Amino acid sequence: MRQTVSIVQIENCEIDRAVRDAVEMAGGLSNIVKGDSKVVVKPNLARLASSGSGVITDARVTEAVTRLVLDLNPTSVIIAEGTAVGYDDKALSTEQVFDLSGTRGVALTLGVPCVNLNIDEPVPVEVVEPRAMDRVLIARTIVESDVVISVPVLKTHNRTNATISLKNMYGALPGTEKRAGHMLGINQSLLDVISVLRPSYTVIDALVAMEGLWRTPEDARIMGLILAGQDAVASDVVGCALMGIDPDSVFYLRELTSRDGEVRGLSDIEVVGESIETHARPFRTAFEAFMDQYPEVRVVSGPSFCSGCVAELVTALRYLHESGYGERAKGLTIVVGVPEESEISGKCAVIGACSDEQAGDIAMASGCPPAEDDVVIALCEACDADPSLVLSVRDENRRQMWESTSDLIRG
Ligand code: SF4
Repeated sequence: MRQTVSIVQIENCEIDRAVRDAVEMAGGLSNIVKGDSKVVVKPNLARLASSGSGVITDARVTEAVTRLVLDLNPTSVIIAEGTAVGYDDKALSTEQVFDLSGTRGVALTLGVPCVNLNIDEPVPVEVVEPRAMDRVLIARTIVESDVVISVPVLKTHNRTNATISLKNMYGALPGTEKRAGHMLGINQSLLDVISVLRPSYTVIDALVAMEGLWRTPEDARIMGLILAGQDAVASDVVGCALMGIDPDSVFYLRELTSRDGEVRGLSDIEVVGESIETHARPFRTAFEAFMDQYPEVRVVSGPSFCSGCVAELVTALRYLHESGYGERAKGLTIVVGVPEESEISGKCAVIGACSDEQAGDIAMASGCPPAEDDVVIALCEACDADPSLVLSVRDENRRQMWESTSDLIRG
């Protein structure tokens, strides 16, 4: 199945024109937004940040997309988002992000509602072939819409490697359901969410993209681009290519591109406008930036290494250290993703089912992806640490943090 994705360079700061051109080159919206359509424009406002930072969707892009939708006179248009709910870090106020980003101002200017999905009414939606959740709670605003336009910003991610159009759909879960999905494994849960909620169209804000952990201004990558596409998988594949990220290293993209009827990669995508080659640059992955904090730990990875194992390693390493086992982790080698290097000895843990054959009698967390608790246990076994202590430190941290911010995600 061949899909089209457009890439347009913004000239003279004319964001509105770039969005219009990108959408037109990618087939336009008129065959998607009809007179009786109920449309949701869904930016990525997961963090408290300003427009132009690269951390969130620039409100000027949201405005340009919403104007295009309004031009088609649908029944209703809503701008909607629910910020990150704080899995291991604090939850954030969606209302504050609406204000700081300028998104609420856009909604007021255009006369459309701005809905906080974290406190929206949850509606259960059955997942036919579940990976982690046999039913997903989706915000009523999204369920009652028939067109969802995903307007993400282009970024790396510390648990999914990339966050573009499809990951943006995770914001459609009311707050407590976001936390539940994280508990069950974000990569598997995201596949369940995507199975019941695919964007109808994607417009990617790549004015400023973000690499690494997007914690400092130096993580910003000024690209000056807008991407558009009707197929969210194709849009994500092209977005990954611009960041130098292999789509196979993104668990949900690896899964989706292997299915019949989906694009299998760039060879199935017609890129119109600017070329990928002109603008692609290698982004520092979030996991690389994360591992800088643990120079005493060596990760030996192979070509199968993907975000399924990244997500659980991030948690396990963090709480191993927060439990006071930093010294014992010195010299630890983590084997993941079937590396070529086979002579591994000393303090070592093998993570993920794809490396099963390399485990032998080494501490191992199997599963694809492995369960978070199993990764903690494997690292503890390798470091002679007490897993029950590490798991209790993790649980207590989450309990305190979740209680202190629960008012932000409950309606
Ligand atoms: S076991 Fe291998 S393929 Fe599966 S999530 Fe881990 S790294 Fe990815």
